[in-house]
Amino acid sequence: MANYADAQELAALRSLSASIGRDPHLTQAAGGNTSLKAGDTLWIKASGTWLKNALAEDIMVPVAIAPLLRAVQQRDPAADKPQGFAIEALNTRRLRPSIETTVHALMPQRVVLHVHCVDTISLAVQADCEAQIAKRLDGLEWAYVPYRRPGLPLAQGIAERLRPGVDMLILANHGLVVAAETVAGAEALLRRVTGLLARPPREVAEPNLAALTALIGRTGYRLPADVEAHAAAIDQESCRMASGGSLYPDHVIFLGQGSVVARPGEDVRRVTERCDSAPVAILFPGLGVLMRGDASGGADAMQRCLADVTARVDVAAKLNYLTAAENDELINWDAEQYRQKLNAAGS
Ligand SMILES: [Zn+2]
Repeated sequence: MANYADAQELAALRSLSASIGRDPHLTQAAGGNTSLKAGDTLWIKASGTWLKNALAEDIMVPVAIAPLLRAVQQRDPAADKPQGFAIEALNTRRLRPSIETTVHALMPQRVVLHVHCVDTISLAVQADCEAQIAKRLDGLEWAYVPYRRPGLPLAQGIAERLRPGVDMLILANHGLVVAAETVAGAEALLRRVTGLLARPPREVAEPNLAALTALIGRTGYRLPADVEAHAAAIDQESCRMASGGSLYPDHVIFLGQGSVVARPGEDVRRVTERCDSAPVAILFPGLGVLMRGDASGGADAMQRCLADVTARVDVAAKLNYLTAAENDELINWDAEQYRQKLNAAGS
């Protein structure tokens, strides 16, 4: 990086990114991303990398801003593949920029932080989200963006809602974006907003480890990495919310569509037979959660996220779930494949 001040800001951003990435209430697995604009280059977290590794590894990729923004304006499908805009001469590790690169490019501020904050998501899945946020962020310059698939559709949704002065976005069924001219300013804004959106989780009983261990038997399933994950099955209201479907994109990416809840008397084998395949996670109401033996670290992080989010949702609230088509377009991420499928269904 040519400019010393920019290099200092990038170092500060990497440090902040690592601390955001270590907080499971702000980011889970490879979710969330941060960026810095330096001249006409956007330095953005690489796709699939974890923010918590931002200091240990070089996870920032340089992207040319102007051509990417032109592609978004022209609704060019190329904007859905931000790797086409990476500046390869500076991209020493040949990483791909985040699928959410367009979110960062659209914000005019130099520093952008996008987090999957569990307090924000718990509000962003409620049908009354906009009114709830308005009460909490009164007087601040925020915008509400209805749910769209990450990538070009989300970028277009943001472009429709962005007004001059807006420095925070509430992404429905997804998360939070804050932006500022400096890393220190962005960090301060993130702390302020997440403080205003904080909600206490419902108290939950302990998991029944003896019963879960008995259910594991020789099935190849295992306990979740984080003990907090069990709450989604133990708490009756959380379990009801989970059973309703998928609430946000990373859940679908890491755990599949919705949640599998065991019916009374079902063990792992019966659940697997009913589903025709072994689910990544099974919720046993009142007992806790089991993970398939080969579940990834990302799956564990998202299973805990589900518990942390649902424990904060108002039990009286109507929830917005992702539709069948929205689930489908996440599972078949390739936009072209999805378009063809919809064409076939429509003909
Ligand atoms: Zn996101």
